[in-house]
Amino acid sequence: MTDVGDQRAGRSLVYLTEVPVDRVKGIGTVRARKLNEDGIASVAHLLLHVPRRYLDRSQLFDLSSVPLGEEVTVGGVVRHVSRRRISRNRTMIEAVIGDGTSTLTAVWFNPYLKIGEGEEVVLSGKAELFRGRLQMKAPDVGRFGGEGSLVTGRVMPIYPKVGGMASQKLLASMDNALRRSRPITDIVPVEVLDRLNLIGRDEAFAGIHFPDDIGEVERARRRLIFDEFLRIQMAFRTRAYDEFESQIGVQNSVEGELYHRFLEALPYRLTSDQETVTARILDDMAKPRPMHRLLQGEVGSGKTVVVVLALLTSVESGHQGAVMAPTEVLATQHYLGTELALEDAGLAPPLIETGAANTASLFGAEPTTTRGVRIGLFTSSKVTTNFVSGDVSRSRGIEWLQDGTIDIAFGTQALIQSGVSFHSLGIAVVDEQHRFGVEQRVVLRDENTTGGVPDLLLMTATPIPRTLAMTVYGDLEVSTIKEMPPGRAGVTTETIPDAADHEIDERIRRTVAEGRQVFVVCPLVEDSDKIDARSATTEYARLRNALPGIRCELLHGQMRSDEKSAVMHRVRAGEVDVLVATTVIEVGIDVPNATLMIIRSADRFGLSQLHQLRGRVGRGEHGGACILAADPTTVEGQQRIDAMMATDDGFRLAEIDLEIRGQGTVFGGAQSGVADLRLGDILHDREILEAASLVAAEAVEADPNGPFVEAVMHEVACLFGESAQWLTRS
Ligand code: ADP
Ligand code: MG
Repeated sequence: MTDVGDQRAGRSLVYLTEVPVDRVKGIGTVRARKLNEDGIASVAHLLLHVPRRYLDRSQLFDLSSVPLGEEVTVGGVVRHVSRRRISRNRTMIEAVIGDGTSTLTAVWFNPYLKIGEGEEVVLSGKAELFRGRLQMKAPDVGRFGGEGSLVTGRVMPIYPKVGGMASQKLLASMDNALRRSRPITDIVPVEVLDRLNLIGRDEAFAGIHFPDDIGEVERARRRLIFDEFLRIQMAFRTRAYDEFESQIGVQNSVEGELYHRFLEALPYRLTSDQETVTARILDDMAKPRPMHRLLQGEVGSGKTVVVVLALLTSVESGHQGAVMAPTEVLATQHYLGTELALEDAGLAPPLIETGAANTASLFGAEPTTTRGVRIGLFTSSKVTTNFVSGDVSRSRGIEWLQDGTIDIAFGTQALIQSGVSFHSLGIAVVDEQHRFGVEQRVVLRDENTTGGVPDLLLMTATPIPRTLAMTVYGDLEVSTIKEMPPGRAGVTTETIPDAADHEIDERIRRTVAEGRQVFVVCPLVEDSDKIDARSATTEYARLRNALPGIRCELLHGQMRSDEKSAVMHRVRAGEVDVLVATTVIEVGIDVPNATLMIIRSADRFGLSQLHQLRGRVGRGEHGGACILAADPTTVEGQQRIDAMMATDDGFRLAEIDLEIRGQGTVFGGAQSGVADLRLGDILHDREILEAASLVAAEAVEADPNGPFVEAVMHEVACLFGESAQWLTRS
């Protein structure tokens, strides 16, 4: 194997992914194995392990004036060190340092820490007063200059621990790895770097690990963050190209008779957002290449009508549509909504008897404009349609998909799996796309017998901020309905202490007396010793006692699914006044008569959950109220309650959520580009993200298989490999 130091021409990051990390001085087999476990297999991965922060000698506080309780850096000479064994496996090290203005005692419980009297050190941590003396607990230690020191500048890197190696230990190996890897070659064209005011890659790696000043760190960070975003965006752009833009699609002729008849029959006018997104969708559908678009809009924003217009367009062009939802309940809701809408528009087909339906002659070549639009709901056991009285078997339904009898099919993802094929699938609509992966898209393409790739329209009711959309749905074009249809009474939001049972019960009584229904949502199913919050079971028992004569029912995720649907059925039928539930009611439940939502221990819920829950009431002509019963015990809990009080804009709330929680926890899923970000923060580095996205789009547009695109994708494959196969190009 070639030694890293042998080649002078300059090394690429891809080359460095092939140099195992044990080639670095100070890293033996044992250590290398541990590093491997933490995802650092090669020198490239090691170099991408960047400092968590830096100690800046120019920013040292005098000990006499150091602020208490904040992260600070101080420096001085070690006057005295003592080691004390405080238990069988705990050793305490105390060091007193002085800087001429005062002294400070630093305390560690790390028996391996090396610190000696007379040494000059820099400590970073929180200073506090302990028995009248200045103290720091477990500060980071650094040493500048002096004999054997690696850090000669004024800034010292502090690394997050990895592979069992602490920062001090890592420093020497990093220095060695970097020296022997430089110069690191760049893959981004110079004109792009110039335009975006970015430094070269070699300079960036040197600057991030061993900077002379903090300004250098900033420039290095900007460049490395750009690279991170570029890799993800390039993966998205090439996938969009490979799967959609380079493919032959099903071309649909738009704005035919069905479209217009449906539009005219609507009892309302489209909002301008609905008009805009419909126009964009039809535009895509008319093109010879397949559509790949995400339709975003909150529950109740009117996505359904937009989707039906797209489906009708495809049907009238002689093709079929498929609508897929994550659960059968949601698929059924889509089916029923569409069935009703078709009836209202006079587009429902005549009903035929089940017996007669078994003869193929009934399905002649009559155009949909005269015979009506035939739709079918596929569940695991049977198929329900709007053109045959009574259900038919699944196999019969599948035949009808294959011979084109059914124009639009509704179901879960099983609809496109297990050997189901279509006569001519023109458009696939998928609800809540994050459960719809690359594999399903491939099936969709293969099972469609016309050969063309069907248009794909994904829809989601979960509002996500634009930057997050770029890293999660980066290969899709996004259309958003922001404006809600007019004439909705809306929801008011109030807060109340969680202990205020009497007040809450009174509100429930009043609401039920008006003939309306109430939801009471709790964070737990049953009481817990560990979590101090309301449970649905206990709250249900309490309310039954407190509200005699009022019909209460309980719903939670641990119930059997037939029990759950029975309860929901009674709620919809108005046979239940108060439903006490956990967040199982979060998605998809539509009860227009429910006007009061009470969320117990509300600070325990995530912001998007709170928002979804609030959206469950005030959906009919009656206004709704949402009561957040909470005594927040954490800052974040309070922030969430405050945010709910401040706005009901789902996009704004999603952004606040991102600010509160940080990107890592928002979308931890394997299918999110966020999971591969180390340095970049989609909120704070939004400008770099957008620049990278544009550069990737331009590059793929200019030459989808050109050297720049290939170089970035090669890096993606080498750096992420198995762990992020969805990112790599096949
Ligand atoms: P979504 O699918 O986005 O949750 P829906 O399409 O179910 O929302 O629409 C919610 C309700 O609003 C439905 O009852 C629908 O009839 C109504 N609606 C949709 N668009 C409009 C509009 N432009 N004006 C008035 N009401 C509308
Ligand atoms: Mg098309």
